[in-house]
Amino acid sequence: MPDQHDKEFNEFHWMVNMLQTLDVGLVVIDRQQQVQLWNGFMENHSGMKPDVVRGRQLAEIYPEMPHDWLNRQLSMIFTLGNKAFSTWEQRPYIFPFHTYQPITGQADLMYQNVTIIPLLGLDGRVNHACMMVYDMTDAAVNKQGLKAANDELAMISRTDALTRLFNRGHWESELEKTYRRYQRTGEPHCLVMFDIDHFKKVNDGFGHPAGDEVIRQTSRILRACLRVTDVAGRYGGEEFGVILINTDIAGANFFAERLRKQIEKHAVNYEGQSISYTISVGICQLSQTIHSHKDWLEKADQALYRSKQNGRNQVSHS
Ligand code: GH3
Ligand code: MG
Ligand code: MG
Repeated sequence: MPDQHDKEFNEFHWMVNMLQTLDVGLVVIDRQQQVQLWNGFMENHSGMKPDVVRGRQLAEIYPEMPHDWLNRQLSMIFTLGNKAFSTWEQRPYIFPFHTYQPITGQADLMYQNVTIIPLLGLDGRVNHACMMVYDMTDAAVNKQGLKAANDELAMISRTDALTRLFNRGHWESELEKTYRRYQRTGEPHCLVMFDIDHFKKVNDGFGHPAGDEVIRQTSRILRACLRVTDVAGRYGGEEFGVILINTDIAGANFFAERLRKQIEKHAVNYEGQSISYTISVGICQLSQTIHSHKDWLEKADQALYRSKQNGRNQVSHS
């Protein structure tokens, strides 16, 4: 039968073994921030054995640690017996360790959660603190990957695949937003709608893929005419809408004529064939007589219809 002393000694021995192999970093420091204990996790990730760091100050070992934060926390730990906690979202790391993510190749530094607790000595005073370092790299990389995927999905759901302009749904919601903003601020905004003339002839004469290329190049010319605040969308097959923010009718007219002329002189080369085409444009400036964003759209469409009626390849206002 082992006596009490042997039993306690065994337990102590096991405990040390467990702390050595635990997948959590354990560091004990004194009031001068000199390292007293450095477990296996710390040794593996720092590449420094305990006898190399023992007795040295953290600031000397790692000048790049967030020392301002650490000093503040430690002074409260030693005076008030508080605990301190840092998450990877607040500050990515406390100890600058490298990790290797062979799958994603993304993370460079190890993301960490760190808890610091006061350690009571035999005299009942806090003369040491223990830092516990948790590797959060997997969680951080997953969360960031998920966010990137979500951003990408949100972008795709707003975008028209052929032209990379906003799709009808998103563009219309922007139109509605602009209408509501106008009710608050009364600033001038113009809506420009345009449609490719005799587009059926392009499809019939050159084929549907050639028609697609015409739509694509039209959106490219349009994009080159836009300012950053303008909101352009593909409204239908070969009909487009542009919201010109803080632009009056003179500015909108200038924009529309420029776009119309550029398309008129442009020719799409498709498999050795040259395709020339034109657009008809309708403009409507937002005013008190317009009662909804649908109403605004209708009035711009009426102006566009007039351009078609009057011979196409022209700009009309409502
Ligand atoms: P108008 O001058 O009066 O506008 O004559 P139009 O021939 O352009 O007539 P309309 O605008 O009504 O015709 C649009 C045509 O565009 C009909 C449809 O087959 C074609 N279309 C719609 N979407 C696409 C598309 O994504 N790609 C291609 N290639 N054609 C499309
Ligand atoms: Mg058309
Ligand atoms: Mg059309």
